[in-house]
Amino acid sequence: MNEKHLVTESFSAPLISRRHALGLGATALAGVLVQPSLFAASGSKKVVVWSEGSANVDKGSKEVYPNDINTAIADGLKPLESQGWTVVKASLNDPDQGVNEALLSTTEVLIWWGHKRHGEVKNELVDRIEKRVKEDGMGFISTHSSHFAKPYKRLMGTACTWGEYVADGTSAEVIVKDPSHPICKGVKNFKLPKIERYGEPFAVPTPESVPLDGIYTKPNGQTAPGRMGLCWTIGKGKVFYFTPGHETYDDYYRPEVRQIMMNAVLWAAR
Ligand code: ZN
Repeated sequence: MNEKHLVTESFSAPLISRRHALGLGATALAGVLVQPSLFAASGSKKVVVWSEGSANVDKGSKEVYPNDINTAIADGLKPLESQGWTVVKASLNDPDQGVNEALLSTTEVLIWWGHKRHGEVKNELVDRIEKRVKEDGMGFISTHSSHFAKPYKRLMGTACTWGEYVADGTSAEVIVKDPSHPICKGVKNFKLPKIERYGEPFAVPTPESVPLDGIYTKPNGQTAPGRMGLCWTIGKGKVFYFTPGHETYDDYYRPEVRQIMMNAVLWAAR
């Protein structure tokens, strides 16, 4: 069977044929059959914004994100609704850790913010996210401390450590490095008055593009480079990592950050 030919055809039938060709069981096939009809019925694409439910609890962040970070990010994506998108919030505190099989199978793009509860995310969920990205082409966006999120680490296949983590009053300029990249559409260089400095090197595979670069300015005036937006294609799916987004700073309310997140959703969608 000509795999390349099948992949370039329309959405439903070739995928099903391909599953047959791969000899997957009836359960897997049923999942594939359901998915296209749901898209057709709703006429919309779904972005799920997941967070771990700690930012709205901890002192210092609950004042900034009283309804958790998933709410702030989801609110910033609202303009996408007029483009046929459905924005869904999910939390680690929800049943099935916020992302059950049915939801995942109809999600175009999954945005992930976690910080200190990464270890609670079940490996079965990570397995399903990995499969959905690599085999079905779901987009995955990981932001700030989610460089250590289990699904992100799984997709990268590396340690995903930064060289340093410092919250010392550092500020930063986010630099549009590739103005022609879809993630930079309508975005100009902008400053973040406070940022947790994630210093290079970043232990990830070489990205296919780095649309956003950055310069940190330390309290003593010294500067240091730090990449702010990195892109990969993992299997069939697109993955974007965005460096800002510390829970005690207001990044996710900022118009430039909201524009980047919207652009990233559109870029990461199939
Ligand atoms: Zn942080």
